[in-house]
This record gives sequence, C-alpha cells and structure tokens, in this order.
Amino acid sequence: MTAIFNNIIAVRKQLPEEVKLVAVSKTRTIDEILEAYNAGQRLFGENRVAELISKIDRLPADIQWHMIGHLQTNKVKSIIPFVSLIHSVDSFRLLSVINSEASKAGRITDCLLQFYIASEETKFGFSIEEAVEMFGRKEFRDLANVRIRGVMGMATFTDDQEKVRNEFSKLREYFSLLKDKYFTWRPDFNEISMGMSGDFRIAVEEGSTMVRIGSLIFGERK
Ligand SMILES: *Cc1c(COP(=O)(O)O)cnc(C)c1O
Repeated sequence: MTAIFNNIIAVRKQLPEEVKLVAVSKTRTIDEILEAYNAGQRLFGENRVAELISKIDRLPADIQWHMIGHLQTNKVKSIIPFVSLIHSVDSFRLLSVINSEASKAGRITDCLLQFYIASEETKFGFSIEEAVEMFGRKEFRDLANVRIRGVMGMATFTDDQEKVRNEFSKLREYFSLLKDKYFTWRPDFNEISMGMSGDFRIAVEEGSTMVRIGSLIFGERK
C-alpha cells in the first residue's frame, strides 16, 4: 500500500457515502495518479487544459476527467471530447462557447456554474444577480448542448472557520434558490461542488455533494 493509496482510503472514510470525491491531480505525475486509480478512484480534476490533454492518453479510459480551473474560451474545443464535467463556468460567453463546441462534437456537456462566494479578489465566478439575469435570457434557454448540473464555489483561504462556513452556506442557498426557481422539474440539477483539503469537513456539513481534494491525497504541491 502506498501513501497515496492509503490517503484515498482515509479521505473516503471521512466522507458520507453519497458525497463524491474528485481527486485533484494537477501537477501530479502519471504514476501518482495511477496509485490513486488503484485505490478505486475514478474521478479526477485538473485545472489546466494542456496538462489535462497530456495526461488523458496515458491513463485508463474509465477515468472521468473534471475541469475545475478557470477556462478560456479558445481552449474549450480541445477538452470537449474528454471532459465529463466542467466545474468552472463563470460567464454566459463561456457557457455559449461550450454549447457550440459540444454541438459540433455531437455531445451534451455537463457544467456547474461557479459562484463567487469568497472575499478575495482572485476568485472567479457569477454573483447570484448575474446568474439570475442569465437565466432570464432567451439565448440562455436556447442552449441545447449544455446541461447545468449545479453550482461550484471556493471559500476564502482563511483560518476563520465561521467565515468559511458562512460562504459555503451562501452557496447552498444559491443552489436552492436556482433549484426552486428554474430547475424544479429537473432532478439532474443536483450537485454542489465545494470543499478542498483544508475545508471539506465544513463543506460537507453545509451540504456539499462533491469535494475537490488534492494535497490531502497526493501531499503538498511544490
Ligand atoms: C487545486 C484545487 C483544489 C484542491 O486543492 P487542495 O487544497 O490541494 O485540496 C480544489 N479546487 C480547485 C478549483 C483547485 O484549483
């Protein structure tokens, strides 16, 4: 048993059965990823397009790849055939490019809307007002090749646990608001992607359905 193998088992044990674990494999080698795979891990998240593409062919085909990082519109085309979920949709423009590339490829691409919940300048994402405005547009309702599966957010990087809890709770409220207003007839709007190595326990308590964990599995990134 390698350390990575054991870490996967240990993290899994701390998660309720229904919460999905996305192993964040950015900067990690093929061998490291295979160790996680051998512990049964099948969901992996990457945040850079070039890195994602370079890894796909060298790893087992039953891995489900999630794009979790900021995505530029000119890079969308290259990941559409491989990606099973895009967590980081942060604008209508990006969503419409994903839609048109998915359409050309004959696919329907699952997406999460990333919300800005932290008090940090660097975090991407919609505000709830922007999202509601987008849902009101006809162009949005016409997008036939994307399926909105839920929401994603990143809390402020801080030791203040109450602050982190409030931010996750806010994301959960956004999810409920959108569900009640736009997705009552859509059981597949059901994902809340929140929680990383440092804050996943709070995220799970606040209703996360999917945690994105890197360093707890693979060790600190250099
Ligand atoms: C890197 C990253 C993670 C994982 O971070 P850890 O602290 O290593 O668990 C989660 N989500 C996103 C969007 C990331 O870029």
